[in-house]
Order: sequence, then structure tokens, then C-alpha cells
Amino acid sequence: MAVIQEQCSESQEAVVLPLILPQLRAKYDLSKRADTIPQSYAQMGGEELDRRIAAARATLGERLVILGHHYQRDEIIKYADFRGDSFKLAQQAAMRPQADYIVFCGVHFMAESADILSGPHQKVVLPNPAAGCSMADMANIAEVEECWEMLHELLGDDAGLIPITYMNSAANLKAFCGRNGGIVCTSSNAPAVIKWAFMQGKRVLFFPDEHLGRNTALRYGITEEQMAVWNPKNPMAADDADEEIERAKIILWKGYCSTHMRFSVQQIEKARADYPAIKILVHPECRREVVDAADFYGSTEYIIQQIEQAPAGSQWGVATEINLVHRLAQAHPEQFIFCLDPIVCPCSTMYRIHPAYLAWVLEALVEGEVINQVRVDEETAHWARVALERMLAVH
Ligand code: SF4
Repeated sequence: MAVIQEQCSESQEAVVLPLILPQLRAKYDLSKRADTIPQSYAQMGGEELDRRIAAARATLGERLVILGHHYQRDEIIKYADFRGDSFKLAQQAAMRPQADYIVFCGVHFMAESADILSGPHQKVVLPNPAAGCSMADMANIAEVEECWEMLHELLGDDAGLIPITYMNSAANLKAFCGRNGGIVCTSSNAPAVIKWAFMQGKRVLFFPDEHLGRNTALRYGITEEQMAVWNPKNPMAADDADEEIERAKIILWKGYCSTHMRFSVQQIEKARADYPAIKILVHPECRREVVDAADFYGSTEYIIQQIEQAPAGSQWGVATEINLVHRLAQAHPEQFIFCLDPIVCPCSTMYRIHPAYLAWVLEALVEGEVINQVRVDEETAHWARVALERMLAVH
């Protein structure tokens, strides 16, 4: 069985590296964060990069640990000492105290979490500092604090609000939750975290992913009528915004993952029509209707586990990032696995970890120079740790 898939334009190498070629610098004048790699690395061929990454890695030995998120491309993931989702990788960082350098092949908030959980002598490096997460960037501390104040003004002393931030958020938002009696969640433990939050208070403010919040709350028994959506760009726009918030048990931040928003019910219907025995497996960052139409839903680690445990001959239509789906398909030729999105599109921010950046930062480490280090200040790290530790205590 073959599924025809095309490449989306965002997935081309050209999106990542031309930013650093001189003739395009003027055009991309505002892309300062990406405009820092030496041109010699930008112009190196794949084989040379490969050879230089392997050599630098061998020289650094035990002093280095490379962490690779499941959504990284094959040319990067093959160098990872550990693969995992964001939280699992941050824990791996904490479990390798002998490593002086933790090179995190993922996105910015993940490197921050690794810095928070690793030892003071360890340095966390994000090969390309422009690798952010578009969803995490949809909530910033100024907007969240403004929202918090407005909600308390409206709801008064009896608000009983507990903030929950998804792991995919900046360190200062995790710290905000730590300071305000709140907690962090991952896509695996979100149901248990919501239950915990309702044992502490009356209402939840959930950010930055509206969809993970809604999908989890629905399964906890909260109805759509008991949810309100907070649009940070225009918070109280609706005429009945006050009443909606007053009756809400959960207030969902209007943020989303552009990768998981590509999946639709139509894709699921088509997969079922084409392959009647197909099982649909989706990530909870997808829209509610996609999750409702699926057979199974769960975190990245859950998706991997489902496929690893399935018998030969199983058929899967999967709604998550394409690099992971391709690897699962390659690792399990005895099953039929494909991505539900016919236009193959990787997470464009994860994709910014190009091998040229990895070679550059590793060779600098060999020379004793730390490039693109991610550091979280002590005060922020303390309160973020409080929120993360609350999460770890929840079962
Ligand atoms: S897949 Fe979505 S949530 Fe994950 S890093 Fe990319 S943009 Fe962020």
C-alpha cells in the first residue's frame, strides 16, 4: 500500500539556511537571531558536516550529551544520545551530571527546562537560537499577568483560579505558575494535573494551548458551556464576555500548534474510506473534532508506545509531526503507518536545527567556546522548579 504525499514548501532546506547567505541578509534584516552562523558552515556539504559532527562528538566524549526531540530530522536525531519528548529529555539532562555540555536539539523552551533541571556546572546549548516554538510564543509573561489581573478584578476574591501551563511555554510562565499556586503539565499527564488543580481551587486558567486544554477538560467532564476562551489580543471583545468567564470552570488561552492544526476530520474520513481497517491515532494538540473522530489520542510517547505494541499487519493513520511518523513507519515495516496530512510538513521551528548549526556549536565546544547557551536566571528557575515539582508529585 502506498500513500502519496507531497512536500510542503516550508519543509525545504531553503527556508532554514539562506537566511545566512550574504546576498539575502538585507532582505532578512530582521532575522537577527538566525543570522549568526559563520558562512563557512552554511556552505558546507552534508558529508563534511556529518564527518565534523562525528569527530567533535568523539573528542568531547562523556563531557557532552546530545538530546534529540522526536520531531528532529534524521540527520540530527542520529547523533542524539537520548531521544524523547520535551519532558523526558529535560529529565535525561538532569540524570547526566558528568556532562559539562548539554546540546539540546529541540526548541527554546525545552532547552530552558533542561537548564532549570540540570546542575549549576552544566551548560545547555541550543544549536540555533531561532528555534522557538510558535505555540509557546503565543503566550508571554506580560499578557498572562494582564489576564490574571483582569480575571481577578472580574471574579473578585472568590476567583479560586489555578494557573496551569503546558510544558511548551517559556520558563517565566512556568515560574508564574509556581508563584501563584499553579503547576506545569505535559500532554501525557494533563488529565491528572487538571484533577489536581480542581482539588486546589474552583477554576483553571490553562495556557498556551487551547486545544490540549479543551480536549483534556472534556474528558474530565467539563462541558463546552463551562469553558471560556481568552484571546490575549482582544480579551473581552464579546458582549457577554463577563458572564462567560463567570460561569467558566476553565479559561483556555487562545494558542495553538500550527503543525497539529493541519489535521482535519476530512483527512480521517478519507483514510477510513481508503483503508477500512485503519486505526486513527492523534495528538491532543489537534482540534476537538479531530480528537473526537480518532480511535486513540495521546502524547508523543503514547503514540510511539501504541505502535510499538501493535501486532504485525496493523494499519495506522497518525496525526502528528512528520519526522516522527516517518521514523515509526521505517522502524515498523510489518505495519502500515502514514501521516494523515497529505502535504508533508515538518514542525518548521524544530527544523531550524540544521546540521550546520550542530557542527558549528560542537566544534566551538571542542575549542572551549560555548555558543548559543540558554540560561534561566536563578529566581525564575526557582519558581519554575516549584511548578515542575508539583507536577512530578501528581499521579
Ligand atoms: S510541533 Fe507544535 S508545539 Fe511542538 S515545537 Fe513545533 S510548533 Fe511547538
